[in-house]
Amino acid sequence: MNLFDAHNHLQDDRFAGRAAELLSACAGVGVARMVVNGACEADWPDVLALARAHPLVLPSFGYHPWYLGERTPDWEKQLIACLDAAPSAVGEIGLDRWKPDLPYAGQEEVFLAQLRIAAERNLPVSIHCLQAWGRLHELLRDHPRPAVGFLLHSFGGPAEMIPALARLGARFSFPGYYLHPRKARQREAFRHVPPDRLLLETDAPDQPLPADQIRFPLTDAQGQPLNHPANLVAVYEGLAEFLGEPLAPFAARIAENFQTLFTPHP
Ligand SMILES: [Zn+2]
Repeated sequence: MNLFDAHNHLQDDRFAGRAAELLSACAGVGVARMVVNGACEADWPDVLALARAHPLVLPSFGYHPWYLGERTPDWEKQLIACLDAAPSAVGEIGLDRWKPDLPYAGQEEVFLAQLRIAAERNLPVSIHCLQAWGRLHELLRDHPRPAVGFLLHSFGGPAEMIPALARLGARFSFPGYYLHPRKARQREAFRHVPPDRLLLETDAPDQPLPADQIRFPLTDAQGQPLNHPANLVAVYEGLAEFLGEPLAPFAARIAENFQTLFTPHP
């Protein structure tokens, strides 16, 4: 069975030089490809280096709304240089009205600049959205989008919006975190996702699974828990069970969905 992680951050400092070890565990459980998302300029060279060293890694470059304060005057040029070097995906980009003290001013402008770059190159985009679903829908509806589509990572929006977003080209990605009992609303929404628009993710090192479903425990140097990307296998098992689907055909469908979005021209 080939598994596909639609969204993680293998370059994260908290993994401190352990990428090779993590990737070999991933390969051991059948992970065939993972989208590794840079979230700011400082990340992008690390993401590119990981992709060059490990064929499992599909690199993605973007400015996440949490890190916009770190933007240099050259950021767009840097982003384009990365995409010239590895034209595979744009992200993580997004809109966030949830994070306390995070300015919203400027977020839409940076989001749209990156969406435009992705649309021009027809590259898939990975989008983070917290408490800005109505606005995100408007922006996507009213601006050029990549024809190949876009990923709503850790989709936590209202189920009622799924059809309208799907019409614009959305894929909906399910994180292991939604297997927690308290995430019932988010989990239920995935029953409404069209079968060809569903993807899964770890968001490693974040969004840990419930303790009893963690297959690969991991901590950072300070002993803080981290989500190991090989836990993807448990995300597949948990969601397949929740949706009442046998694992093998479920995984085959997700593989096709992943390839349609992220590697449409192999
Ligand atoms: Zn992320």
